[in-house]
Amino acid sequence: MKSDVATPCYCGARQTYAECCGRIHAGEAAPTAEALMRSRYSAYVLALEPYLLATWHPGTRPPQLDLVADDHTKWLGLEIKRHQASGADSAVVEFIARFKTGGRAQRMHELSRFVRAEGRWFYVDGEFPEKSGRR
Ligand SMILES: [Zn+2]
Repeated sequence: MKSDVATPCYCGARQTYAECCGRIHAGEAAPTAEALMRSRYSAYVLALEPYLLATWHPGTRPPQLDLVADDHTKWLGLEIKRHQASGADSAVVEFIARFKTGGRAQRMHELSRFVRAEGRWFYVDGEFPEKSGRR
């Protein structure tokens, strides 16, 4: 998908893409873990793989994501449930992302952990609260 600066932001915020996730994609530091989470969701919508890897903590970052090869996932929306500081430079964001793949609508409920290093937030990893009871 090609990004259009005047469109409402993909993350569901009431700002335009340019005012919201666009400026973070362009290099501005995300002010909060939630802002980073939103910008990462928008990056999935736009298949901005380099951005996703750059905002992934080096300790947990996968070598690649193959987003371009994955053209059958359609992202439908993001809902932030909770944003909580868990320390001076760490936070948790709980969200539900909806998407469609192979004609089936799905939802991903995740509790993501973020840390801040040198003024930048990074995604570390996530837990899936709905599945954790069944492990
Ligand atoms: Zn946004």
